[in-house]
Amino acid sequence: MKIENPNPIQWRFAERAEQLQSSFIREILKITQRPEIISFAGGLPSPATFPVEEMKTAFDKVLSNNGKVALQYGPTDGYLPLRQWIADSLSANGSTIMPEQVLMTSGSQQALDLLGKVLIDEGSKVLVETPSYLGALQAFSVYRPEFVSVDTDDEGLVPSSVNPVADGARLLYALPNFQNPTGRSLSVARRVELVETCARHGLPLIEDDPYGALSYSGEPYPKMINMNPDGVIYMGSFSKVLTPGIRLGYVVAPMPLVRRLELAKQAADLHTSQLTQMVVHEVIKDGFLDRHIPSIRSLYGNQCQAMLSALEEHFPAGVTWTKPEGGMFIWVTLPKHIDAMKLLDEAIANKVAFVPGAPFYANTPETHTLRLSFVTVPPERIRVGIAILGKLIAAKM
Ligand code: PMP
Repeated sequence: MKIENPNPIQWRFAERAEQLQSSFIREILKITQRPEIISFAGGLPSPATFPVEEMKTAFDKVLSNNGKVALQYGPTDGYLPLRQWIADSLSANGSTIMPEQVLMTSGSQQALDLLGKVLIDEGSKVLVETPSYLGALQAFSVYRPEFVSVDTDDEGLVPSSVNPVADGARLLYALPNFQNPTGRSLSVARRVELVETCARHGLPLIEDDPYGALSYSGEPYPKMINMNPDGVIYMGSFSKVLTPGIRLGYVVAPMPLVRRLELAKQAADLHTSQLTQMVVHEVIKDGFLDRHIPSIRSLYGNQCQAMLSALEEHFPAGVTWTKPEGGMFIWVTLPKHIDAMKLLDEAIANKVAFVPGAPFYANTPETHTLRLSFVTVPPERIRVGIAILGKLIAAKM
């Protein structure tokens, strides 16, 4: 039976929902996923690296040996053996992290939302890098903070620029390794200075680190959480080292905060899939990542090199770009008069795509910047795409 609506609903959304905006990147992905387009726009890891067979075997093993537990509701904080594994691997870097400090989340994106929910009031000062990860800006925006953009330069965030804005701020959100969107990394000296600065001001420092393992040389940077486990909140993810489709991430925080985050998670989704956590633990528990990650590093490192060589060859003088030592992104700065948003229209007409830089700025956007991702495009297509972009840019010089 179909019931009529004599009084059609006049939808009245909560104010926080009224101002929700779709991520610009997810919007342009819809266009750029067409196969004829050479897309440097996606932030997707390369599917060539997904360990399909290992996941299949692990699913089978978990369901055969422990199916009734895997398919039941689980604890909000997560599957203890996996939390123990995470605590042990972080502790190996120098300080002791307890499994009680680890909260498993549905992707590290959920950790951003929970952190926003627990730490940000309307109007709270939230310090972010210039530019920063769009997904974090989007997650925090729901809680209506006042974003304060902290200076960055070629070496990433400038710690001294935190001093004038730290007092009264609720948190500083930083991406020290192969940053999304710039590909930049923070030097060891700057990490120490940043952790010290935040500690001096009593300012919680969020270290978002989905790309840290993807250093092309294999040499990792020290983690800030190990420098001050009482003041740093660490976020990790299995998206870039295993597969993003399983939506598994985690946040490691001092005890008073992790308990609050757990309560917020309870209300949000009760817990992250127990089956997924058990399968991931089964895959990684005997050192699989130590064998697997080097192959990701080498694939991404080669494609990064292919893109850097193509940029050198095809981009005109006056354009500059970052030279990442790991991760998935290169950041390009055009001469100031070139608007990357307009360039994107022309690029798409010529079957190439990228992400304009403006949406990554919390405050004043630099419209002459753009982000290139090289991990899902083979080297021959990278060269063709960069040559096309180079011609379009040269015509505007
Ligand atoms: N932080 C950063 C910096 C990211 O680039 C991403 C994914 N693009 C995330 C967090 C979220 O990742 P996930 O939810 O897949 O763990």
